[in-house]
Amino acid sequence: LKEDLEKLNEVAPTMSDKKKLLGGKGAGLAEMTRIGLPVPPGYTITTETCMKYFEEKGFPQGLWDEVLEATKKLEEHTGKKFGSDDNPLLVSVRSGAPISMPGMMDTILNLGLTEKSVEGLAKQTNNPRFAWDAYRRLIQMFGNVVLGIEHNEFEEELEKIKEKYGAKQDVDLDVEALKELVEKYKEVYRRHGYEFPQDPYEQLRMAIKAVFDSWNNERAIVYRKINKIPDDMGTAVNVVMMVFGNMGDDSGTGVAFTRDPRTGEKHLYGEFLPNAQGEDVVAGIRTPHAINEYSKQDANRDLPTMEESMPDVYEQLKNVAELLEKHYKDMQDIEFTVEKGKLYLLQTRNGKRTAAAAVRIAVEMVDEGLITKEEAIMRVTPENVDTLLHPQIDPKAKKEVIAKGLAASPGAALGKVVFDPDKAVELAEKGEKVLLVRPETTPDDIHGMNAAQGILTARGGMTSHAAVVARAMGKPAVVGCEELSINMKEGYFIARGHRINEGDIITIDGTTGEVYLGEVPLIPPSISGNLEKILEWADEIRVLGVRANADTPEQATKAREFGAEGIGLARTEHMFFGEDRLPIMQEMIMAQSKEDRVKALDKLLVMQRSDFVEFFRTMEGYPVIIRLLDPPLHEFLPSREELTEEINELKMKLKEVTSLREMDLLLSQINEKKRILSVVNELHEFNPMLGFRGCRLGIIYPEIYEMQVRAIIQAAIQVKNEGKEIYPEIMIPLIGHVNELKLLKEDLEKVAKEEMEKSGEEIKYMFGTMIEIPRAALTADEIAKYAEFFSFGTNDLTQMTFGYSRDDAQAKFLKKYVEMGILKDDPFKSLDWDGVGQLVRMGVEKGRKTNPNLEAGICGEHGGDPKSIEFFHMAGLNYVSCSPYRVPIARLAAAQAQI
Ligand code: ADP
Ligand code: MG
Ligand code: MG
Repeated sequence: LKEDLEKLNEVAPTMSDKKKLLGGKGAGLAEMTRIGLPVPPGYTITTETCMKYFEEKGFPQGLWDEVLEATKKLEEHTGKKFGSDDNPLLVSVRSGAPISMPGMMDTILNLGLTEKSVEGLAKQTNNPRFAWDAYRRLIQMFGNVVLGIEHNEFEEELEKIKEKYGAKQDVDLDVEALKELVEKYKEVYRRHGYEFPQDPYEQLRMAIKAVFDSWNNERAIVYRKINKIPDDMGTAVNVVMMVFGNMGDDSGTGVAFTRDPRTGEKHLYGEFLPNAQGEDVVAGIRTPHAINEYSKQDANRDLPTMEESMPDVYEQLKNVAELLEKHYKDMQDIEFTVEKGKLYLLQTRNGKRTAAAAVRIAVEMVDEGLITKEEAIMRVTPENVDTLLHPQIDPKAKKEVIAKGLAASPGAALGKVVFDPDKAVELAEKGEKVLLVRPETTPDDIHGMNAAQGILTARGGMTSHAAVVARAMGKPAVVGCEELSINMKEGYFIARGHRINEGDIITIDGTTGEVYLGEVPLIPPSISGNLEKILEWADEIRVLGVRANADTPEQATKAREFGAEGIGLARTEHMFFGEDRLPIMQEMIMAQSKEDRVKALDKLLVMQRSDFVEFFRTMEGYPVIIRLLDPPLHEFLPSREELTEEINELKMKLKEVTSLREMDLLLSQINEKKRILSVVNELHEFNPMLGFRGCRLGIIYPEIYEMQVRAIIQAAIQVKNEGKEIYPEIMIPLIGHVNELKLLKEDLEKVAKEEMEKSGEEIKYMFGTMIEIPRAALTADEIAKYAEFFSFGTNDLTQMTFGYSRDDAQAKFLKKYVEMGILKDDPFKSLDWDGVGQLVRMGVEKGRKTNPNLEAGICGEHGGDPKSIEFFHMAGLNYVSCSPYRVPIARLAAAQAQI
C-alpha cells in the first residue's frame, strides 16, 4: 500500500537496492504504487528471505506469521476475505528475481479459490461461468507449478471436455462443462497421489514454497549460467490481489512496450487479448490483437485493436506509458490487465530489445534530453554492437521464400533444421550450424535456442517466449510462422509445398520475417546511423586507444573502416602461407647452406615488401606494428604423417612402372619427399610452442629477421616517397631475457641504417618487443632499456603463466574447470585479472620506470573482450589491439571503462 512504502526507503534507498531486495517485479510494483499508478494491492517476500529458506531448508522463523499478518492487512484494505463464500480475496503468487529472467520461474493465479469460495466468487461477480473457469485454471496451474504434474495431462482433459461439449475454444465451455472439468482435474491429482488443498492458507504456503524452489529448477539454473547471473541472489515472492481480465468484453489483458522493441522507434507497441487472463498472451495460445494501428504491422490485421475497442482505457495506458518512461528514463515493458473498463498495471521493467533498438533508443533519449551521452554509452552492451556487426542477407542474392512469419529478432541465420533442442546442442558442439524449428518454444528449450544460430516457430506473437528470449540472446528469430506445418514425430515441415527434413539447410531473416530455401549468401555488415553516433561518442570519452590485429591489407582496410587507430599486430608469418609463397618459404627452410637460404629469402623480401607497402598505404597516418617471424618452422612444412603416406603411395606406384623414365621420375620424387621428411624429423620438437620459435629463430638464423627488417624499411621509404605519413614499429616476439633483445636490436638497427643510407632517406621507426613470457614481465625494467614499446601477448602469457596449452586445454579440461567453478572464465577468452593481470601491471610499471616514454599495448585475443579491456584501461595501457570485427566493440568497452 502506498502509505507503507515510506519505510521501504530506509532499508533500500536506491532503485538498485530495491531491485536486489524485492526483485525486479516487486520493486516495479512498489515504485508504481508509490507514484500513484493503479496497481492491485499486495506484498512482497524478499530475496533475502528466499536465500534464508535455502539455508534453513524450510520457512525461516517468523515468515509465516508475517505472511498471515500481511494477508490480514490485505483483507482489511480490500474488504475481501481469503476463502470466503461471500466476497473472496484471490491473489496471484509471483516470482521475481533481481535480474529479469522472463518465463524462467512460475506464477500462480487465482489462488484462494476452493469449493466454497468459488461459489462466493460466482455470487459476487454474478458470473458462475467466470468463477468456475478461474477455479479450473487455479487447479491446473497449481498442479503444474506446485506439484510438478505435466501440463499435458490437464490439457488432455481439457481437450476431451471440449470435444464432448462441442466447444471450439476454451471460452465456449459453459458452467456445467467447467464443473465437470474441475472433477477431471481432481482425478489427475489423485492419479499422482494428491488432493487439491481446500484451505486457502495451505495453498498459499505451498505456492510460496514452490516459488522459492523454482529458483533452483533446471531451466532457471541454465538461464543463469548462460546469462552469468549469480546463483545466490534468490527470488522474491509477490502476493498480489487478483484483478480479472476475463470478465467479459470490457476486460482483457496485454503487454505493451513504450517504444518498439524491434526497431526502437518511439511508439507505443503491444498486444492485447480481450476477455482473457494473464498468461494467455505470453503463452501464445490465442492470437492476440494489436493494441493500436502501429502494432498491427505484424499482428492479425482483421482483429480490432485495443485503441478501437476501448479508446478511453487505451488513452490512459498511453499516458501511463509516457509517465513510466520519463520516470525510469528507459524503455519500459508493461504488463497490464483491464477489469470491466478499469486499467491495472501488473508489472513494469526495462524492456528487452534488439541490438538495433538498444542503440536507437540510447541515441534518441540523448536527443530528447532524457539521458546523458555517458548513460547512452552504458545502455548499449558490447554484445549489442557484436550483434549489429553480424552478417545480413545479401540483398542481391537469388532466393526463394518458403514462408513468412513475424520478424521477431533481427539478423540473418542459416543452418541445418533441427526440431529437438537436445539435438541442437549436440550438433552445435560438433561445430555444426543449426536452426531450431519448433511449434513454439518454452523455457525448457533454452539450451537448444542458445546452441542454435537462429529460431523459427510456427506459433506465438511478438511477445511470445521465443521472441523475447531470442531478442535477449541477440539471435535472429522468425516466430508465429503459421504457414509451417510441422511434423515433430517424423521430423519434417511443409512450407509452400516444400518438404524440409531435419538436417536440410534453410535461411531465416529475422529482420523481415522471411524464411528461405537452402543457403542464402550473407554479406558483412557496416557501421552507420545510430551505431556510428554511439561509437563517435565513445571515441570522445575513451582514453584507451584501439588498434587492430591485421595480417593482410584487406583486413587492415576493414579495420580502418571500423575505426581502428592503427595496426597493433601484423603477423608476418601469415603472409608466408599464400600459395605463391609457401614453396619459397619451404625452400628457405630446407636450405642446406646460408647462401641457399639467402637466395630464398631474397625472393621472399620482394613479396614482403609489397605487402608492407600496402599496409603503410592503408594505414596512412597511423602506426603499424609488424611482428617478425614467430611460429616454429615445422608449421610451414607438411606433417610427418602426410609425408610418410605420400612416400608410401609413390612406392606403390613404383611397382607398376612401365618405363625407365617413369621410374627415374618417381625415384627422384621419393628422394625429395625423404629429404623433406628428414628436415621435418630434425625440426621435430615434443613441445614446439615452448621450442625453437620467435626470437630464438631470429637469433640462430639472423638472415631471416634481417630480410624482414630490410623489407620493412624499403617499403617505408617507398611509401614515404609517395608523400604519405607513416609510423612503422618493428616488434620482436618471445623475448624472455634482455640479452636476446639487446643482441637483435644491435644487429637489426645496423640493417635498417644500411637501408636508409642506401637510399639516402631517413625513416622514423620504433623498435620494441612483445611481453609474453612471464620472465619478460618480471624483468621488464631491464628489457625496457632496449625497447621503445611493449605489446603484451596475452595468449602466450596466459599459456605460460597457467601452464595450460592454449591449443589443447579447452577440450581436455578447461571447459570442465569453468563448469565446476574452479575458474570463473576461460582465461584465454577473458583475461585472468589476478594472475596474468598482475604480470601485465608489473610489466607496465617496471618498464616505465626505466623508460618513462614506453608505449604499452596488448595484442592478444583479450584485446576484444570487454571485461579484459576494463582491466587494460585500469592498468594504464596506451591501447588494445583486436581483430577488425571487434574494433567497434573495443571502442565502446574502452569508453565504458572510462565512465
Ligand atoms: P512472469 O514473470 O512470467 O511475467 P507474472 O508474475 O508477471 O509472471 O505473471 C504473468 C501474468 O499473470 C501477468 O502478466 C498478468 O497478466 C497475470 N497476473 C499476475 N498477477 C496477477 C494479478 N494479481 N491479477 C491479474 N493478473 C495477474
Ligand atoms: Mg510478467
Ligand atoms: Mg605469441
